[in-house]
Amino acid sequence: MTQYIPPLADFEFLLFDVFNVDEEWISESIPVDRELANSVLHECGRVARDVMAPLSSTADREGASWDDGNVSAPQGFKEAFEVLTQGGWLGTAGNPEFGGQGMPKTLTTALEEMFWGSNTNLWLYAALTSGATYCIDAHASEELKARFLPAMYEGRWTGAMALTESHAGTDLGMLRTKAEHIEGNSYKITGTKIFITSGEHDLAENIVHLVLARIDGAPQGTRGISLFLVPKYLVDEQGAIGERNGFASGSIEHKMGIRGSATSVINYDDAQGYLIGEPNAGLRCMFTMMNYARVSVGVQGLGLGERAYQMAAAYAKERIQGRAPTGPVNAQGAADPIIEHPDVRRMLLTQRALTEGSRAFAVFTAVELDRTQRTDPEVSERSSRYVELLTPVVKAFISDRAMESTLLAQQCFGGHGYIVESGIEQVVRDARISQIYEGTNGIQAIDLLGRKVLQDGGQTLRSLIADLRQEALDPRYMTQVSDVLDLWSDVSEWLGSQARSDRSLAGSAAVDYLNLAGYALYAWLWARMSLFDDGTRGKSNLAQFYFDQLLPRAEYHAKVIKNGSNAVTAPDSDWF
Ligand SMILES: Cc1cc2nc3c(=O)[nH]c(=O)nc-3n(C[C@H](O)[C@H](O)[C@H](O)COP(=O)(O)OP(=O)(O)OC[C@H]3O[C@@H](n4cnc5c(N)ncnc54)[C@H](O)[C@@H]3O)c2cc1C
Repeated sequence: MTQYIPPLADFEFLLFDVFNVDEEWISESIPVDRELANSVLHECGRVARDVMAPLSSTADREGASWDDGNVSAPQGFKEAFEVLTQGGWLGTAGNPEFGGQGMPKTLTTALEEMFWGSNTNLWLYAALTSGATYCIDAHASEELKARFLPAMYEGRWTGAMALTESHAGTDLGMLRTKAEHIEGNSYKITGTKIFITSGEHDLAENIVHLVLARIDGAPQGTRGISLFLVPKYLVDEQGAIGERNGFASGSIEHKMGIRGSATSVINYDDAQGYLIGEPNAGLRCMFTMMNYARVSVGVQGLGLGERAYQMAAAYAKERIQGRAPTGPVNAQGAADPIIEHPDVRRMLLTQRALTEGSRAFAVFTAVELDRTQRTDPEVSERSSRYVELLTPVVKAFISDRAMESTLLAQQCFGGHGYIVESGIEQVVRDARISQIYEGTNGIQAIDLLGRKVLQDGGQTLRSLIADLRQEALDPRYMTQVSDVLDLWSDVSEWLGSQARSDRSLAGSAAVDYLNLAGYALYAWLWARMSLFDDGTRGKSNLAQFYFDQLLPRAEYHAKVIKNGSNAVTAPDSDWF
């Protein structure tokens, strides 16, 4: 398998040329400058390439294992995880008051991409920790923060998110896990959660679960759900580890992909938990973690899309089959490299235009995430609304495009791509989950259209589109960008006018709507990247490819939406 190459030059281009983030860092007194950021990026790239990537395929073959409640990560993960904790890589974005490094999201998003891309299986043991620490930092008491955050930022303790139950996945309002009040903010938690990523493993001293449960007598549905911090080992006020808490892994799942990541059934039996936030406000608090995780899952897809492209491009240069349509380019050889065939080039360019577009989109969203912390309330409030609007698009559009890219990469390998030794089939299997967990992509689309656009009367969207129109773009693409932004606005207005009389319209149109939004945003991003291309990066070629070959998909999605919901709602459920 080819070596993983960290896409450092592209990060630098996006951060410092396209989005000028270092100017914002200076003006907001964020203690990171260009030089420090570059050295962090390079060191992270080294760890990703030399420590993490070499363990990816062995971890997939071996998988995580379960023995009487004890869960072991694949071989080599302990040592590699030690490198991650020693390097402080789990606390990069954390609150400095409790030992975090306070790096901006624009930088940590790039770091995460490299970790996901080089070894998704290993990074899954770390990634939930960042989400859990965000949630604890935002909603827990000062006492709980001081007790749990420092060890989590160090990576000595990791995090897990326990929402799902066998009968309550998308519909968390149906969850049954119980919380019985003991005293103060202490509760006893009892119930069974399924599909808990890194809920049990042997890489850390302690595992901090954030668990959704229902306090005795709480209302039914989502308004009766509270959030609890439930550690595997109890922790005293000085932060020292004590006795084992009352929960254990009942089994782990055997999965299509991410086989090195342990996904547990967790049985809580009178486990000691501490309330986070107000009683019955748990879902709102958990959204801090879920929104973080949703952006991160998009970036997971992006990392794997990049990895797949690198493998496919290398293969296409070395595999020889047939002759180029314009005459032999390898006249001495028996055949030409397959990269000479226009269809193979189409596949590679599609992957690259989507992957680099996704990277730009992830950084664009990270810029807004950082702005939510600005001191100017007008800026932070506007950016918070943009982040709310964009989060489902980041999660679903990036992971859907990543799936498309990894499949195209596999296609470049022909039959060899179907064979395990090629390595590419693992990337396809590992990428697939990003479309499913953290809320399926269908649910993301409904969230975007239903909650973020229609419920808000389209105000945030109008403001975002108006802001996008103010920015400098490559003049060659101004008209196309303006047209697709008009199309996105028109379709949104049309949906707003029709959705009240056709109650199935939003649900049937949502996925096409999210795709239309994604292709419109990528058009803006490609025109912006093309503006800053100095001719050495190939961004202008890729921009042309995007506008010629991929942007027309936006028209298709708009047309499907305007065809309405009849074809979807017509058949009776019994007909299926
Ligand atoms: C490998 C793996 C790791 C996971 N890790 C975690 C974890 O760490 N913590 C955790 O809590 N959970 C975790 N999950 C659970 C994951 O988030 C859920 O599987 C996912 O949210 C979907 O829930 P479900 O499987 O119950 O599907 P369902 O909710 O049963 O959905 C089935 C289908 O119906 C659709 N659907 C459902 N409701 C609606 C609706 N209202 N409108 C339109 N369509 C709808 C869905 O989009 C989907 O296509 C993990 C799952 C897997 C497979």
